[in-house]
Amino acid sequence: MSTPSSIKLEPAQNSFLNNLVKENKPFETCAFLLGKKLDDMFIVKEIVPVENVDSSNVRFSIEDEKLLQIYTYSESINLPVIGIFHSHPSEAFPSKTDKFYMELNPVPWIIKSTTTNETRCFILNDYVNNTKSEFTELEIKIKD
Ligand SMILES: [Zn+2]
Repeated sequence: MSTPSSIKLEPAQNSFLNNLVKENKPFETCAFLLGKKLDDMFIVKEIVPVENVDSSNVRFSIEDEKLLQIYTYSESINLPVIGIFHSHPSEAFPSKTDKFYMELNPVPWIIKSTTTNETRCFILNDYVNNTKSEFTELEIKIKD
């Protein structure tokens, strides 16, 4: 089974995420993306924003309790976590810390740079073909 090559966001979901980033600036923003995997695409159905308990602009941490809540909720509505969104005050590329967490959460990670406004999505290759240490970029499709 192959990994989808793209992730789909509705224009309204995309604006929602962009607003979250604006509201939280200069701190990093994070949100969990719940949805489905359909053929060659991850489809975002619901967005669960999470508070950055670090109030940091260079990293984020999430309380374990909050994480558990999200996963319990995701199970209850039968929509798995298919992606994680966060903002960066630097380039839209996974940091070393991100890579560590990407290994724990091998789903697509969408990163929005607050300096260049660029948004990119990556998944660890690990998840794709068992070769560690490299990322595969997924296309972000914004459409209804
Ligand atoms: Zn990051």
